[in-house]
Amino acid sequence: MVIPAEQPFFDPAAAARNGLELPCRILVVDDDAALRRTLPHVLAQAGRTFDECGTVGETLSLLQQGSYDLILLDYRLPDGNGLAVLEWLAQQHREEAVIMISGEDAIDAAIGALRGGADDFVRKPYHVAQIQRAVQNVLHRTALERANRAMSQRLRASEKLHRYLVESSPDLIFTLDGEGRFSYLNPRIDALLGFDRGQLLKRPFILLAMPEDQDRIQALLHACRTGSSDGFNVELRLRRNRHILQDGEAAFVTVSLNGMPMPGRGDAGERDIGLYGVARDISERKRAEEIITFQAYHDQLTRLPNRVLFRDRLELAIAQAQRRAGTLAVMFIDVDRFKLVNDTYGHAEGDALLRNLAERLGTTLRRGDTLARLGGDEFTVLLPDIARAEDAETIARKIIDALSTPFALRDGEFRASVSIGIAIHPRDGATAEDLTQHADVAMYKVKRSGKNGFRFFDADLNAHHRQRITLENDLRSALARDEFELYFQPQVSLARRCVVGMEALLRWNHPTQGQVGPAVFVPVAEEMGIISEISLWVLEQACRQLNVWRAAGHTELRMSFNLSPHDFDRCDVVAAVLAAIARHGIPPGQLELEITESMMMQDTDAAAGKVRALRAAGLSVAIDDFGTGYSSLSYLQKFPVSCLKIDRSFVRELNGPVINPVISAITGIARGFGLHLIAEGVEQAEQVAVLRSLGCDTMQGYYFAHPASARDAERWLQTATLPTPA
Ligand code: C2E
Ligand code: MG
Ligand code: MG
Repeated sequence: MVIPAEQPFFDPAAAARNGLELPCRILVVDDDAALRRTLPHVLAQAGRTFDECGTVGETLSLLQQGSYDLILLDYRLPDGNGLAVLEWLAQQHREEAVIMISGEDAIDAAIGALRGGADDFVRKPYHVAQIQRAVQNVLHRTALERANRAMSQRLRASEKLHRYLVESSPDLIFTLDGEGRFSYLNPRIDALLGFDRGQLLKRPFILLAMPEDQDRIQALLHACRTGSSDGFNVELRLRRNRHILQDGEAAFVTVSLNGMPMPGRGDAGERDIGLYGVARDISERKRAEEIITFQAYHDQLTRLPNRVLFRDRLELAIAQAQRRAGTLAVMFIDVDRFKLVNDTYGHAEGDALLRNLAERLGTTLRRGDTLARLGGDEFTVLLPDIARAEDAETIARKIIDALSTPFALRDGEFRASVSIGIAIHPRDGATAEDLTQHADVAMYKVKRSGKNGFRFFDADLNAHHRQRITLENDLRSALARDEFELYFQPQVSLARRCVVGMEALLRWNHPTQGQVGPAVFVPVAEEMGIISEISLWVLEQACRQLNVWRAAGHTELRMSFNLSPHDFDRCDVVAAVLAAIARHGIPPGQLELEITESMMMQDTDAAAGKVRALRAAGLSVAIDDFGTGYSSLSYLQKFPVSCLKIDRSFVRELNGPVINPVISAITGIARGFGLHLIAEGVEQAEQVAVLRSLGCDTMQGYYFAHPASARDAERWLQTATLPTPA
């Protein structure tokens, strides 16, 4: 379609005026030459030019050469009749105006001329004024006609343009009559809603609105009709033709509808107020808005509700429970050992596991329950309506059950277990915050006592939790307040009958609680992420003390100290140790690091590299508590350690006649790998004897000495003060 260019609106009066002043060509046809020459003088006016001729033949030939505005045509001509000229003009669809002039006084001639298309008829002889008037009139009329034609042409073009704009608009444009029925619809209706527009004409607009929107729309239309509103803009859902709906397609389109009252005429011609409406499809925008809202309230990874939405739902559920005096439960779920998967298999695998976990957790819940992911490996569950607290227990068991089937990992599988804490409303708390926090406290307790289980909150737990928070706060400032102290426990060589080493063991002199052991606070410091600072302090103190003893003549003494697996996550542990040795001028062979088996489990390549670097620098590295963990020979191949420390749990069993095969295995391994062996937790003379018979020479334990302060430990460096084995 060609778009007609819009033209300025036409002013007919001006056009008519201009018509008279415009150049105007007049042809005078008369066989009377005198008359032909006089007429131009009589009719002369600015802009008028005249041609003249005397026959039909000449007339036609002039007309073929050009056009005229007016012909003054004599009726009787030598070669024919003026009517022949009129006939020719009609055939050629010419626009020349014609005034027929004739001496015939017969009325027939006048009628014939006017029928033949002449605009006027003047009879000879005529008065000058008469012909002047006739010319003036005809020219004026034809100018008006011409202006009129031009105007309607422009109007048609303008209407065509506006119709084009309306019909091809991307918006749905329509009008309603006073009854709210469609009186016009543009073709957009087809693409937008799948209706044929002919089908909808005369049908009520309200039928297109979704049922839940109908009352609202009815009210708006009514307000326009009664004049109490001069228009509206609303968001509305329009129904799509259900016969064309494909599977999964939305049943409606959201539009932004602008409506304006529009005066019109009803079917019977009476005045009424209809409506002019423009509806724009905003489904895309709505979808985008929905996605943004979804993202604000959901976890990206699992698509579960997030913390914000969970809290929202919990608050709502609490309000409802209070109204009907009901019970609800909040569960706090933490995945056990999840970090291991992340560290061993990488984050992509960890993410996949979380997604699968979320899915499996979801299967254990009912509609109406909310499972949310708070972040990391932490999930929460809201059971908004339970009859008794025990119902939550049933769900917790279901969850633990559901996880009993292992999850497939890229290579291998993961037996997921979770620690679940449960808080019940109203028993354990009245607010969302209290309930979530108390469920968290209960979960924490499960974690501390061996994981993989569930537990209800109780008030005692809260007291423990508070203690723990206090402990964390105190621990944070312990270094700065200089509350740590190193104790030392001697390692005795039976063959040499003297102390060959000291293990540095950390103590915390708590301002109110007295001395606190590392078993209590080291795991807390690890969780808090401050263990590395403490380790650096231990390293520094151990080196300093060793130098004190070296200065006192104990130049062969070895100093052992413990490192946490977390220290090995830090890349600078090797550098820190080497720097300390250099700073204190200690021969590397006199320092021994104790690491745990669990450390070797994590990120083996990097950790093995660090152990190798320390060994290469000449330090000893011992595996502490050997035999309690995953003791695998392959680790021993990978980690070039120099010493194994037999865990005291094996030593404890050495008081009977039967020797635990694990102990003989460990001594065998040490011999096989050429490793130094130290027995820990030696408390009795019999244990000493058995260990000696198994080939273990170096021992540490209460039998010889309890760990003690540096000053006390110094006494043991004289062999005489140590108990001598039987
Ligand atoms: P560990 O390295 O295996 O240290 C030996 C633990 O056994 C010490 O407990 C020690 O007091 C205790 N022990 C020694 N002889 C006997 C005995 O004959 N019988 C019994 N029942 N126990 C004995 P402690 O000092 O409470 O330390 C506990 C653990 O805390 C240590 O176990 C070590 O893993 C960790 N630890 C100690 N100091 C540090 C430190 O400076 N840094 C780090 N990261 N961990 C430390
Ligand atoms: Mg140790
Ligand atoms: Mg140990």
